Formats: sequence, C-alpha cells, structure tokens
Amino acid sequence: MNNYEQNSEDNLDLSADVIVVGGGPAGSATATMLSRKGWKVIILEREKFPRDHVGESLLPASIPILEELGALPDVEKAGFLPKYGATMVWGSGDAPWSWYFKETSQRYPHSYQVWRPEFDKILLDNAQSQGVTVFEGYHVTEVIFDGDDAIGVTFTDAEGGSGEAQCRFIVDASGQSTLISRHMDTKQWDPFFQNLAVYAYFTGTKSLPEPDQNNIFIESYRYGWIWSIPLHTGRTSIGVVVDSQVGQEGIQQHGAKAFLESQLALSCHTRGMLEDAQMDSDPNVVMDWSYTADKLYGPGYIIAGDAACFVDPLFSSGVHLALMSGVLAAAYVTTALNDPTMAGDAGQVYQELYLKEYNQFREMARLFYSSNLSAESYFWEARRITNTDHYSPRHSFIQAVAGQPSRGYERVVLDRGQAPGEFVESVRTVESERLARTQWLAALAADTQRNQILNAVPRLADGVEIQHKPVLDAGEFVPGIVLNTVSQPEGTPCSPLVAAVIGHIDGRKSVSDIVDELGQHLDQAGHAQLEEAVSRTIEILYVDGTVSGLVTE
Ligand SMILES: Cc1cc2nc3c(=O)[nH]c(=O)nc-3n(C[C@H](O)[C@H](O)[C@H](O)COP(=O)(O)OP(=O)(O)OC[C@H]3O[C@@H](n4cnc5c(N)ncnc54)[C@H](O)[C@@H]3O)c2cc1C
Repeated sequence: MNNYEQNSEDNLDLSADVIVVGGGPAGSATATMLSRKGWKVIILEREKFPRDHVGESLLPASIPILEELGALPDVEKAGFLPKYGATMVWGSGDAPWSWYFKETSQRYPHSYQVWRPEFDKILLDNAQSQGVTVFEGYHVTEVIFDGDDAIGVTFTDAEGGSGEAQCRFIVDASGQSTLISRHMDTKQWDPFFQNLAVYAYFTGTKSLPEPDQNNIFIESYRYGWIWSIPLHTGRTSIGVVVDSQVGQEGIQQHGAKAFLESQLALSCHTRGMLEDAQMDSDPNVVMDWSYTADKLYGPGYIIAGDAACFVDPLFSSGVHLALMSGVLAAAYVTTALNDPTMAGDAGQVYQELYLKEYNQFREMARLFYSSNLSAESYFWEARRITNTDHYSPRHSFIQAVAGQPSRGYERVVLDRGQAPGEFVESVRTVESERLARTQWLAALAADTQRNQILNAVPRLADGVEIQHKPVLDAGEFVPGIVLNTVSQPEGTPCSPLVAAVIGHIDGRKSVSDIVDELGQHLDQAGHAQLEEAVSRTIEILYVDGTVSGLVTE
C-alpha cells in the first residue's frame, strides 16, 4: 500500500517487499542480491546519478563481490586504472616504501582506482538490470515505525512532491546520513579517529616511478597524512586528513583551498609531485570522524555500509565494507522474510560479521596511526598517547592479521610501518608457533614407527566450543554449526565432521579412538576414508591452535 501525492499526474508504483534507502555501493549491492532472490525491491536515492563521491581507491577483496553482483565485466570495461598496491611515507623514516597485494594473494593481486560517479552508476545500473526499480531524486525524510517495527518511509522528490511508501522491510544504506541511527540516537563516535579531510582533483600531477605509478600514495606529515590517487581520467584525487578541530579552524581562517594548499606545501614528497599541477576542482571538505551504530538491525529494518559504521580511510576499506555488508544484509532480509523466527539470531550474526570486518580495519588503522614515528607534532603525539590506553598486542594481532586470505597484506604493511615492538613480538610468537607445529606434524608423518597421527591424543585449547547458529549459505542464513575459539569468538562456520571431531576430543581418546567411535557403522572402505578425513582435520586444528596439544607415546 502506498500514498504518494505529487504535483503532476503520476502512476508511480511504490509498493515493494523491500525499500532500500540510498543507491551507493551498499544500497546497490543489497538491492541486487535481494532482487535475485525474487523480492520486489525499490531503491530511493536522493541524488541523480552520476553524482560526486569521495573514495576512489578499492581493495582486491571487492573483486569477488563485484563478480558475484554481476558488475565486474562493466567495471573492467570502464578503463579504471588497475591498482597493485600502495606507496607510503610512514613509519620511522621519510623515504617512500611500497607494498603489493601480490605479496600475500596470488588470486587477487589487484584492484582499481575508480572514478566514483562512474563506478557507483555502474553498480546502480547493474541493480536495475537485475530487476531493481530505482527512483533517483527521492529523498527519504523519515523511516515510519509502528511501535518498534519499521513499516515504511516518507520522502520528498525533486519536483516538490512528497509521500510515503510502505513495505515489508527497509534497508538503510544512506551512507554518512545515517538515517536510522540518527533517528534512534544510537550513533557512537569513535574517540580515536576524529579527523577531517579536505580534497580536490588535480591535473598535471607527476606519477610515482614505475612500477608504482598506479599505486595510492600515502604520505604522513606533521599535521596528519595526505592521499594521492591517480585516476584514468588523467586527474589525481589528492586530500589531506587532519585533526578535525585543527582543520575546522584552519578552514574558517583561510578558506578550504588555501588550507589545502598550505598543508600540501608542508609535505616532503606530494609537494614535488604537484610542482606543475593545477587544482582542477573546488576543494571539498568532508567529516572523517569514525563511528558505529549500537544496533545494526531490528524489526523490519537493517543498516548497511556507512549508514552502520564508518572507519578512517587510511586503508581504503569503505567501499569493500559497503559491498560486503550489502551482500550480508540481503541474506539477512531474505532470511527474516522467509522465516521470521530466525530473524533475531540471523541479525546478530549479521552484526557480528560486519563489525568483525570493520574492527579489523579499525585496529589496523589504529596501530598504524600509533606507530608513525616519521613526524613529530601534536597530531601524532595525541594518537600515540590515546593508543596506550587500549592497546593489547595479542588482541590487535588477532583483530588485524588473523586469517584473511583474500586480503592478507596487513602483515606486510605492519612490518614495514614500524608497528610497536610488543605487537611485532606477538605476531612473531604466533607465527613461529604455527611453523613449529607444521614441522612437528611433518616429522610425525615421516616416522612410520609411531603410526603417524592416529596414536596421538588431542587436547582442545581453552575457550574452544561448538555452537549452533545461523550461517550464510547461498544468499541466506540457514541453521548451521560454528566453531568458537579465543581468536574467533564470533565463530567460524564448520562442517558437521569438524563439529563431531571436536565433540569427541576429551584429552584421553586417541585420534584412532575418535575414528572408531565416529565410524561404528561404516564398512572398511568408509572407515579408511573417515580415518584420512579425521587425521587431516586434527592436523589443521592443531596448526591453527584449536587443538592445543597432540600427545604421542
Ligand atoms: C575522506 C574519505 C576518503 C575515503 N576514501 C576511500 C577510499 O579511498 N576507498 C574506499 O573504499 N573508501 C573510501 N572512503 C569511504 C567510502 O567513500 C564509503 O565508505 C562508501 O562510499 C560507503 O558506501 P555506502 O553505499 O555505504 O554510502 P554512500 O556511497 O555514501 O552512498 C549513500 C547514498 O545514499 C544517498 N542518500 C543519503 N541519504 C539519503 C536519503 N535520506 N534518502 C535517499 N538517499 C539518500 C546518498 O545520496 C548516497 O548516494 C572514504 C571516505 C572519506 C570520508
């Protein structure tokens, strides 16, 4: 049911299962995935696309998501510059150093430097081509609640009309407008990242030397840091990130253009790249103040992308987080519509998964900020002091580095970025433990006298447990099993075999006993297969520390 008053005669159909507020990467991704599941989906977008947006530098982790959305071929055709890594002035010296995605991922060694108006339009058009109805120039003014339940939205359009539309579910993908969390007053500002960014587009910028010419260049300087992102249009996006108070005062006193120029003049390297360059756009000022909403879902609604949380752009993570959360949000909505009894648990899993990814980038940025020794000033000193209040090296390691094969470059970056000694020590300890365990297993396998791993008695590490909770499967959440460990407290989905093996580990039974118990009804061939599968499972669990000990005679 909907009620739309417009000055001109109009037959717009605003009835939908799902209304998505905002057509940025998060909104387009959510809407595309929902439409594929057969839901009737509308996007209400305030602007007419292509519209300007900051945030051009993408991560390789977005490539498989773009592929899943069906947008990758158009992104590849657009001619955006491929990005293979980053060049930084950060750490203890002022010489630039580079790192490359290929150092840790052969599968996804590149991403793109995109022109956002074009990139975001590709994603929005892609949503439309997959059945989503898009209304541009529609500004959602409010989400309508009936008690706690979100049941619709009110909006105005570009022609001065206004109205309301009802639906079964609302996705808030309104970016930094944070429609729902502002309404509910659930937005928590991050005390660590309270910055401001001023940026503009330049022509005639000198490139970094080959092979780094397409890299994002990040230079820390006295009052913050500067990004340079080369674009396929021939322009370069250049911005400074400074303390928000310092930035506001500087801009008030001198104006944004003069403030930006004055900061760029203080840099060692960017200044040189700009020697023959022209500022080719008005400068933009954007708040770069990190936040998270307390709750990312509720009856009839879910929040995705920047509308849910925003983290400092140091690691170019925003578009990736928006796309990833969009895909997860769509799975949540499908689950909640199909089986409302699962909505609460699935919403909790959505929130855990999104915040886990978010916190990984936040922790890494926090470590990076706190470890920069290349510049001395209030900006850097304040960030070092704040850091000592919260810092736990092992926790940070787990948050920042643990098991992200598609990204994985964190280790390289932290090594080169002069991470704090305690942190580096933790990384080394965990890595040498893993290496020692792998070597021990190899020696065991070579020692036929001891009948390999079958005679060993496994013991679980503290905090390991199996839990039943929703897991992601083919675009929705389904009942599943997860393995909780100290390093992954929110749980990693696991197979019934892993769950069964863990359920039988009691510190007394050998691997062979466990196989016998699990394979009571199997014939000889089945028993042999099970023996192999259980042995490999125990080995993997041992290397990653879930099994803390393997005692042999
Ligand atoms: C200084 C800075 C630099 C950044 N650099 C990078 C970078 O290099 N790489 C990167 O990946 N990320 C970067 N980001 C972050 C990135 O831009 C965002 O994380 C990303 O755009 C989030 O996508 P989204 O879809 O959630 O929100 P958005 O892209 O902001 O889309 C939200 C959409 O909702 C619409 N909207 C808002 N309110 C309403 C309403 N009431 N009704 C209807 N429509 C509405 C808006 O018009 C907009 O189109 C940067 C951010 C900042 C601040």
